[in-house]
Amino acid sequence: MNIKKEIEAITGEVIEMRRDFHRHPELGFQEFRTSKIVREYLESLGLDEVHTCSGTGVVGILKGGKPGKRVILRADIDALPIQEESGEPFASETPGVAHACGHDGHTAMMLGMAKIWAAHREEIEGTIVFLFQPNEEDAGAQIMIDDGVMDITGKPDAIFGYHLWSTMPLGSIGAHPGPTMASSYYYKVKIHGKGGHGGYPHTAINPIDAATYVLSAIKSFTTLEQNVFDPTVITCCMIHAGQKEIIVPETLEMEGSIRCLHVEHERVHARFREIVEQACALCRCTCEIELKCGNSLLNNDPALAELARQVACRIVEPDMVYTKDIAVMGGDDFAEFLQYGPGFYFFVGMEDEASGVGEDHHHPGFRVHEDALPLGMEMLMELVTEYLAK
Ligand SMILES: [Zn+2]
Ligand SMILES: [Zn+2]
Repeated sequence: MNIKKEIEAITGEVIEMRRDFHRHPELGFQEFRTSKIVREYLESLGLDEVHTCSGTGVVGILKGGKPGKRVILRADIDALPIQEESGEPFASETPGVAHACGHDGHTAMMLGMAKIWAAHREEIEGTIVFLFQPNEEDAGAQIMIDDGVMDITGKPDAIFGYHLWSTMPLGSIGAHPGPTMASSYYYKVKIHGKGGHGGYPHTAINPIDAATYVLSAIKSFTTLEQNVFDPTVITCCMIHAGQKEIIVPETLEMEGSIRCLHVEHERVHARFREIVEQACALCRCTCEIELKCGNSLLNNDPALAELARQVACRIVEPDMVYTKDIAVMGGDDFAEFLQYGPGFYFFVGMEDEASGVGEDHHHPGFRVHEDALPLGMEMLMELVTEYLAK
């Protein structure tokens, strides 16, 4: 099969499907319409198996005509709670909900690839599992795993994922080896002091004073103690305390995230706990610390990344293949699937000044460049074909 020609023939349909998903965005685990379209489309292709999982998740399995390895390809299907301001003629018709991350494109691309492969199943050396995941924006992958999705997919030899990317130029492919998207854990710290009169602070113990020590100690840790070549970000995004200007509050709550673009997140978490406890103790306060996993480190398998780099260099000019400086402190819960096998996740560039595409993901004005869809499909289809042939 000539992959490029097959994709050219189907690109119009993929774009139509993507615009339809875009018009009808659905929040995490409420992707009922999207899920139904995906399921019916896969069934119409005559896949060997089509399953649902976690309500709106869909798994399609296509057995090739020749024996071989098993790969999982994952696309996310959810939208965001954002009022769209993209100006697109096919903008969201649902107030306050928008496909502002590009998952509409991911879903349509995966359906297009499934259609091409299903029509050429005799040529496939192995089994291809199409995994449509709900609620990527809030840890949907782990819920699918808890619901037994890996029993449906079977043990994979490799897992592939992708993201349309608005901060890389149109026509470029990001094939980054190793840590590519940071692990993200959410913390909640409750600091206990002793309430009292604002005029006699020495008779009270103010948890707000403790919080200022906590914040500066965290900054010292990330900038001075932590190796700068192991990127680590600890951000505080919420502080709640007090209710009147003359009353020292009894307690304070602070929340934020700890992100690590390296494998030593457990050491960072342990130090975070120590630092917070000791900074609180210094101010005669006590504290409770909760840490919750947002997503794990997305660590691309080096061998798959190298294979991807070679494939990408055949598809686009080598200077459009980005292998460094593209890792980010944001996360993707695609990472949770990587505990079941080696994986690779790549970026498909969309930024283009001429058409005004380049707004950040999750911004109300975010847009997808549709020329990136066929390139992303070509990259994944060539990569999977080459991987299965090896
Ligand atoms: Zn997103
Ligand atoms: Zn996304």
